[in-house]
Amino acid sequence: MLMNMADLLAVANEHNFAVPAFNVSSSMILKGVMHTCEEMQAPVIIAIHPDELEFVEDSFVKAVIDEANKTTVPVCIHLDHGAKFEQILRAIRDGFTSVMIDASSLPLEENIAITKKVIEVAHPLGVSVEAELGTIGTADDYGEAGSKKIIYTEVDDAVKFVKETGVDCLAIAIGTAHGLYPKDRIPELKLDRLKEIKANVSIPLVLHGGSGNPDKEIGESVKLGVNKINISSDIKDAFYQECRKVLEDKGLREPMAIYPKCIDAMNEVVRHKINLFDDADKVKYYYE
Ligand SMILES: [Zn+2]
Repeated sequence: MLMNMADLLAVANEHNFAVPAFNVSSSMILKGVMHTCEEMQAPVIIAIHPDELEFVEDSFVKAVIDEANKTTVPVCIHLDHGAKFEQILRAIRDGFTSVMIDASSLPLEENIAITKKVIEVAHPLGVSVEAELGTIGTADDYGEAGSKKIIYTEVDDAVKFVKETGVDCLAIAIGTAHGLYPKDRIPELKLDRLKEIKANVSIPLVLHGGSGNPDKEIGESVKLGVNKINISSDIKDAFYQECRKVLEDKGLREPMAIYPKCIDAMNEVVRHKINLFDDADKVKYYYE
């Protein structure tokens, strides 16, 4: 069941769970994620970053829409970190049901103005909008857009931003970073800040850079009111680590001989995240 993000996360907000947003830019990853979400009756967000869209091209979105239409699991197709207005328009034309406009590196007033402009075109078409306040760090050179220094989201800014823009959900910076953390760096979330923001802002909150944080902290953030958590590096890492092992057999060349094991390895991580976010068996709430 294809849904927009506002409808999808309203249920998560009401029942206090988080929906994983998995970055998907290969049909093998799509296949694995969809299969696992069906098996676990877990609502899901298929996130595609503009760089990923550039790679998989527009026709890939049709395949995702097709998957969403043939399952009873609620699925949202979301543009991750839209940076330019043109990228937002392309995503809407492609059939995304949700877009993120990330103007978090700009001053607050400019961030508000750009977010409002995106909402003006998206909302009449039933497309939801996510924005970001504060900056998410980068943990490795591979991480998507992020900043070396994390600027934590201020509570007053969040209240003002939500009130003035009418945005559907908000990504906040409480200490996560994109990518995978080096071994000697232990990430730590400011959960007190999250608590304060949640107490003052009623829309669903989003955590980016959720790969590699200790499970305990992530689980805690769900209890404190985070309703969407982005996972990219963790599932891709599991997929390709297994892929390297499989390909040690130099004679293999058929995709059907190579990929099933990689998908299985990735699915273990997908299952783990779904359980951690308390997203399992939540499809029923969408049919009440
Ligand atoms: Zn992100």
